[in-house]
Amino acid sequence: MQAIYTCLKETHDHYLLLLAGAVCMIGVYASFAIAKHAGRLEGRAKTLWLAIAISAAGCTAWSTHMIGLLAFNPGMPSGFDPALMVLSLILTIVGIGLALSYAIGSRNRMHRFGAGLLLGTTITVLHYLGQSAYMVTGVVSWNIELVALSILASLPLFGLAMVLPGERRRALRPFAAPLLVVAIALLHFGGMAALQIEFDPRIEIPVANLSPELVAPVLALVSAALVALAFMGLRFALNARAQIIRDQVRLKQLADLAVEGLAICEDQIIDSVNDSLAQITGFSKDELSGRLLQSILPNLTIDAIAEKEEQDTVLLSSGGDIVPVRVLRKTVQVGSRDRIVIAVRDQSERLQTEAKIRALAFSDPLTGLSNRASFGEVLAVKCSRATTADKAFALLLLDLDRFKAVNDTLGHSMGDKLLKRVAARIIACGEPIEAIARLGGDEFGVIVTNADLADDIANKIIDLLSRPFLIDGSIVDIATSVGIAIAPEDGADPETISRHADLALYAAKGHGGSVACRFEREMSNRANARRALELDLRRALTREEFEVFYQPQVDPKSGRFQGAEALVRWRHPTRGLVSPADFIPLAEEIGLIAPLGEWVLRTACLEAKTWPSHITVAVNLSAVQMRDSGLARTVAGILAETDFPASRLELEITESALLQDEAVTYNILHALRSMGIRISMDDFGTGYSSLSYLSRFPFSKIKIDQSFVRQVPGDNDAVAIVQAITSLAARLRMTVTVEGVETDEQRAFIVAEGCDQIQGYLISRPVEGETIRAMFHTTAKAVA
Ligand code: C2E
Ligand code: CA
Ligand code: CA
Repeated sequence: MQAIYTCLKETHDHYLLLLAGAVCMIGVYASFAIAKHAGRLEGRAKTLWLAIAISAAGCTAWSTHMIGLLAFNPGMPSGFDPALMVLSLILTIVGIGLALSYAIGSRNRMHRFGAGLLLGTTITVLHYLGQSAYMVTGVVSWNIELVALSILASLPLFGLAMVLPGERRRALRPFAAPLLVVAIALLHFGGMAALQIEFDPRIEIPVANLSPELVAPVLALVSAALVALAFMGLRFALNARAQIIRDQVRLKQLADLAVEGLAICEDQIIDSVNDSLAQITGFSKDELSGRLLQSILPNLTIDAIAEKEEQDTVLLSSGGDIVPVRVLRKTVQVGSRDRIVIAVRDQSERLQTEAKIRALAFSDPLTGLSNRASFGEVLAVKCSRATTADKAFALLLLDLDRFKAVNDTLGHSMGDKLLKRVAARIIACGEPIEAIARLGGDEFGVIVTNADLADDIANKIIDLLSRPFLIDGSIVDIATSVGIAIAPEDGADPETISRHADLALYAAKGHGGSVACRFEREMSNRANARRALELDLRRALTREEFEVFYQPQVDPKSGRFQGAEALVRWRHPTRGLVSPADFIPLAEEIGLIAPLGEWVLRTACLEAKTWPSHITVAVNLSAVQMRDSGLARTVAGILAETDFPASRLELEITESALLQDEAVTYNILHALRSMGIRISMDDFGTGYSSLSYLSRFPFSKIKIDQSFVRQVPGDNDAVAIVQAITSLAARLRMTVTVEGVETDEQRAFIVAEGCDQIQGYLISRPVEGETIRAMFHTTAKAVA
């Protein structure tokens, strides 16, 4: 150390030493700045600037060393060997290049230490090769111990200087540069101190050698180039910094436009946030920047968030509230640096909406009861548990009686209010009821946990609902029918038990309402039979299983044939002849009545065409057919097609057809009447129709129902009714036909009352077309 100090103090030009130091610093800065610039580039430009940076580093080391040599004053003439100077420069550049490429990007300490050793070796070679390029007029000798000591002491420092920049602990990194300076200084001045020169005038410096006066300008030139590079590097750095600031400003501006909350983070720390995130968290933007991201997203570390993959978590707001959020992470480049943007979407509103939708999907908005879907789920769970009799439960299905009438007469809003009140009364039945649902319209479903209480609850509900409701000042009277099925006895799965409760309800309705019916196997059999019949009926028309029978109508006084009523028959392949009373209602229900009715009308017209021209044919129309506003057109079409005169056709409709949409019925009947077809009021006296119907609609004939005829002349009331109808018809200019006349006594009464026509077994049962044709042609009179 003493030797180094003396060497420094006495044999060196201090100004030149300072210059060497300055060139070293400028060169190092230039090399780093250019290398950084290269790092921001891609492709060939990157390689080029990297090469320039390495060359600058080499030149820095080399020129520092050479200026150091110039600063040395041996006190005798000296010179430099140009070839060795160039060689040392090349070796320095190559050595530094290798060492850096080995070290950069390597996290492995041993690698970096090795690279440091390589760097140290390069500098050592540079030093001693430079030394050998330095020629003096004297004998050069070395203090080998000092040389070895300086090399051995500096090499580990070189190694350490390369290890530090790659250290995880950032605080250690800044020590790398001073350590490098110490290592170089130790190597250089140790070497210089070890140098001993003894003047010897006999030794001549070769002519080809450069004198220090010639080397100085070369070094000045290299130094100037390094200064220029340093300036370039400075500009690059400033540009890059400006770019970063621009990028950051743009990123912030964009972030503030976003609806989602955004946090721009560096590592785990929030750098800045947008307005939305400030709003979601309740913190100000300033409060957020500089915080750990985890302080607002407690369940997440930034590395745990997968890039571009949404993740649900919670956010801790300033008020300590937990806000459900969905986060997304994306790495963006700001200048040459990576920043992590965390997007935070507030989920509370979406979750609330979802909950609302779920609630809506599973509840009935009017009554607030469960709806069919959620009731189905409860029922499924109950069924899965009701495996043994002691876990039995009851399913009650309710259908309100007369609800439709309330809706039609008092309006829908009244109907809605009534349904709410009904719901409240069912709920009031209390404890044994586990679930109540409105299944649609005026249908309700109830689950009773204790099957033994099913009948009691059903009767309680019937009782509660049959008490009048006072709604908006009106007294509303309804009732309910209840169908009961017990699980697992009557069905172990939701479908079966529901179907069976439905059959029981159907039966309750059949009893006229206000009653509860338990499901019985018999119901299921009846339903199955009905389903089978329905299937057969659908095929009967195409299989031509229908026939039309005719029943003659005669003048009660003269006994002359006047007409015949067409009555359909179904010749079932296995059941034989099926009565229309059994299949017409079914045909109406399954939509088969329209084609069947048309077929009967066509057949009857074709048949009647073969009859004497004064004889009419009467065809029955179902109430369902009367709902079809195109009915008159259909009838006209059939008349045209069969070429049958409208004046010989009568259509019979029952009172129930008049209870439907009056306008439609009115239009149809008038259209038919205007075509010349006569309309008969069938089964008169059995329905609810008021007498006013008779005058309002264009009827030509009234048919008194057979139920009255059966009771005359014995029953006074029946006699009075027949008499009243007859006199009413006379006043309205309508003819009267009496149906179901079976006895001569009845006929005598009817003749006495002055009715116009009779029909019944007394004259003939309904017979096949062939038979009636023969009947009409062989004799003009049925009875004398
Ligand atoms: P309806 O129109 O009142 O027909 C008269 C019914 O009384 C016929 O029964 C007939 O056979 C029966 N009948 C006639 N005279 C007597 C009698 O002296 N004593 C008794 N006990 N009964 C008598 P049917 O043929 O079984 O028809 C039943 C009902 O089916 C008909 O009642 C009618 O409403 C309906 N229907 C029959 N054919 C058709 C049709 O083609 N279309 C429509 N829509 N309904 C039809
Ligand atoms: Ca009839
Ligand atoms: Ca009738």
